[in-house]
Amino acid sequence: MTAERRAPLRHVVVTAAIAVLATLWYFVWLATGAGPAAVSYLALPLGAAATAVAVLDLLRHAGLGGAARGFWRLMLVAFGCLSAGYTVLAVAGFRDTSTLPPMPIAAAVPAGIGFLAAMWAMARVPLGVASAGERWRQWLDRSIAFLGCGTVLFHFGLAPMITNTGQWSAQTIVLLGMSFALAVGGITKVAYIRGGPIDRSALRLVGLTGLVGAAVALLLVLGGDPGSVPAQAVVMPLAPVLGALAVRQQWRRATARPGRAGNWLPYLAVVAVDVPLIAVIPGELTWSDKLVIVSSVLVTGLVTVRQFVAFRENARLLADKRASQRHLEHEATHDGLTGLANRALFQQRLGGRLEQGDATVLLVDLDDFKTINDSLGHDVGDHLLIAVADVLRARSGPDALPARLGGDEFAVLLTGPTTLGETVAQRILDAFAAPLSDHRLLVHASVGIATAPAGTALGHLLRDADVAMYAAKQRGKANWVRYHDGMARPVAGHAQLGGELRRALDAGEFTVHYQPIMALRTGRIIGVEALARWQHPTRGMIPPAEFIPAAESTGLIVPLGRLVLREACHQAARWLAEFGSDALQKFGPNVSARQLHDPDFVADVEAALADSGLPADRLVLELTESSALRGQQVSRALYQLHGLGVRLALDDFGTGESSLSLLRSFPAAIIKLDKSFVDGIELDAPGSPEADARQAVARAVMQLALALGLETVAEGVENREQADRLVELGYALGQGYHLARPMPADGVTRLLAAQHRLVAPA
Ligand code: C2E
Ligand code: CA
Ligand code: CA
Repeated sequence: MTAERRAPLRHVVVTAAIAVLATLWYFVWLATGAGPAAVSYLALPLGAAATAVAVLDLLRHAGLGGAARGFWRLMLVAFGCLSAGYTVLAVAGFRDTSTLPPMPIAAAVPAGIGFLAAMWAMARVPLGVASAGERWRQWLDRSIAFLGCGTVLFHFGLAPMITNTGQWSAQTIVLLGMSFALAVGGITKVAYIRGGPIDRSALRLVGLTGLVGAAVALLLVLGGDPGSVPAQAVVMPLAPVLGALAVRQQWRRATARPGRAGNWLPYLAVVAVDVPLIAVIPGELTWSDKLVIVSSVLVTGLVTVRQFVAFRENARLLADKRASQRHLEHEATHDGLTGLANRALFQQRLGGRLEQGDATVLLVDLDDFKTINDSLGHDVGDHLLIAVADVLRARSGPDALPARLGGDEFAVLLTGPTTLGETVAQRILDAFAAPLSDHRLLVHASVGIATAPAGTALGHLLRDADVAMYAAKQRGKANWVRYHDGMARPVAGHAQLGGELRRALDAGEFTVHYQPIMALRTGRIIGVEALARWQHPTRGMIPPAEFIPAAESTGLIVPLGRLVLREACHQAARWLAEFGSDALQKFGPNVSARQLHDPDFVADVEAALADSGLPADRLVLELTESSALRGQQVSRALYQLHGLGVRLALDDFGTGESSLSLLRSFPAAIIKLDKSFVDGIELDAPGSPEADARQAVARAVMQLALALGLETVAEGVENREQADRLVELGYALGQGYHLARPMPADGVTRLLAAQHRLVAPA
């Protein structure tokens, strides 16, 4: 409770009253000459005693912390001792009222202790300075200020007293010297304190009590011996008043805010030291004048050193600032994760380059990064991105600028000959053939290449590279494609498309088309593949290659896939009901790896089967082989589906990295030979290594399927020759434009109806 007491005013009132009474007494004494002059000696000890009481009160009731307590305890000693010392002097004055006695030793010693205590208290106040350089500068500043102000006080106060030997006792001179030291020390300290436990204005007031000594000295020098009375009665009682005011300030603790460092102080000191310097010019030089000159020289020297220190400090600060500016600049222009240039820097460099000459841009987009990130976690994803960045740095060449544009999208700016684009793209793709990062992950990237001549708009070139990158993705991943005029532009960037897709899903713009799977020998429909179609209100039919990647990267493939699955199951059930249970053997929607990572996927399949009434063994889910088909969660889902009786087909078989090893851990029932092995299979060109290789793959896949007891479907059959060749190689089932194009459900219904009439003629 005591700590919350308000700052008391009474101590200030008491000390001020003593000072006023003493002054009044002085004027009365001047006018009448009545009473002993020694009465004047009473004012200071009384006032100092009152201040000591104020300090005591503060210590007892203000709830000060440790550092402040230490300071004010010393101040209690200071005012107590001053009061005691001057009481002794007053007693001596009243004993012999005929003359005012010089200060007895018994009085000077306690008074001196009082000054020492005050100086010690001042010296102990912490400055709260940060750097070593700053501390040095402050020490210099304070030395300069101390020397400068001290010289003034010395020259006008102490020096005349010392030179007029005999007039003033050594005690008086020493005490005055101490009060000067207190004043100058206090002022030079307070100017640099940044706030702290002891109130700054309280400190300032304590410092000012020292200045009272200066006034006394002036009075003594100017007024001679009688000067002692006005000094004692009028000037000295001001010191306790200042002390009481200081105590009150500490009570209020008004100035917790940091003070402004006294940068002006050394300059003031230089000016100050010049005053006595000019004053000594006219006369003969006494020893004290010489002291003034020496001190002026010292001050000048110190100021020079101070400027040098400040200069060095500034240079250091400037260097620090430049370094942090560089750091900021780097942060603003580089990707935090990989350390590659970021989009801003890349565009800036590309823009600059296009002003001077032609530029080639590679856009590198990781295939399936989202799946890795989602299934293995962001940590693994981050490591992979760093590894990819390392590859780009190592493979792009010395003059190239590799950059991370965001997410899993990277770019390389090349300035060499145009063909460098292909060389670097291939070099990067080759590096991705080996597993990356500590996690030994296989990633693939699709690379779009575009070159533009000087003066091309930057956005234009980037768009071309984007179109090429998109084409690379469409052509099967792990590919590079160079942009050429007339290349189909994708609908929009992934992010933008994501919003469109969401809207389209809600608006029911997606439908399902079906491509028949046929028996190659008989031409009978034995199944259908379900393919998503986007019937866009303004752009017309958008092919899956344009929206499936965006749906995958935004996760919208999950609801979209669910929609296709349910629709396909219902349609299949209708056909079976209409044309008999033998009409169709397999119905296959495509399933993205992303869907398999969805914990609800198996339940979705079960629900679709239950709702439609389609027998599970008619459903075929087509999965594209990729690194994303691994992992516990996916594996569990696949075996659960297998357990339900659903069949799994490996789509695009032969294009992936590890088809064979995948087959071991994957309960596949069907493999779909990729279109790329069917293309040109019919060209009987002996000696053409390409045709030979394709045939070899088609044959090997067939043998593998036979060995493992899997069904096969050949994809992308575009002419009769291909169909015949496939039959020769042992393929029974095919799918392709030559056999039937993807079509709406009623198209398939018509085909089935025709087939039904053929098989079951009434
Ligand atoms: P896919 O699974 O390999 O599907 C076969 C694609 O080849 C279809 O393209 C089909 O129209 C096309 N095609 C069929 N026969 C021939 C032919 O003789 N010649 C040529 N050049 N092409 C032929 P579509 O419908 O454009 O689908 C492209 C890809 O989009 C599909 O490749 C599949 O990976 C994906 N996709 C389509 N619908 C879905 C879906 O509902 N979910 C998922 N996750 N992916 C889908
Ligand atoms: Ca497929
Ligand atoms: Ca396929």
